[in-house]
Amino acid sequence: MPELPEVEALREYLDEHLTGRVVERVLPLAVSVLKTYDPPLTALEGQPAGPTDRYGKFLSLRIGELHLVTHLARAHGLAAGQLKAEKKSGLRVHGRAGEPCPVCGDTVRSVSFADSSLEYCPTCQTGGKPLADRRLSRLLK
Ligand SMILES: [Zn+2]
Repeated sequence: MPELPEVEALREYLDEHLTGRVVERVLPLAVSVLKTYDPPLTALEGQPAGPTDRYGKFLSLRIGELHLVTHLARAHGLAAGQLKAEKKSGLRVHGRAGEPCPVCGDTVRSVSFADSSLEYCPTCQTGGKPLADRRLSRLLK
């Protein structure tokens, strides 16, 4: 199950990269993730996206008049093996702070929270913006 800082980082990422863009095409990756058939997925096509909100660990992406709501832990329960493989390939910077990003070569950074930490590539994942590091913020006070 993802921790709250990871869900918030994902919300920020989606908000930055999707808000204002128009959905061109929607395809379900697994029938089991569909909880509704009305409105159909095609109702999202041609609609503007954003903003993305977070309610606890639920993410809500507004598309036109509709809201796509997801919880990453629930998705795990539906497509666990497949999701794990995707997660592994998607987590190319996990545990690699200080090493070059395998995609762009920038230095992978680490940010720590009260009870966890995560690694990220500032170029690929935050648009060059460094995330506030709790340890560093404490030193700078
Ligand atoms: Zn990178």
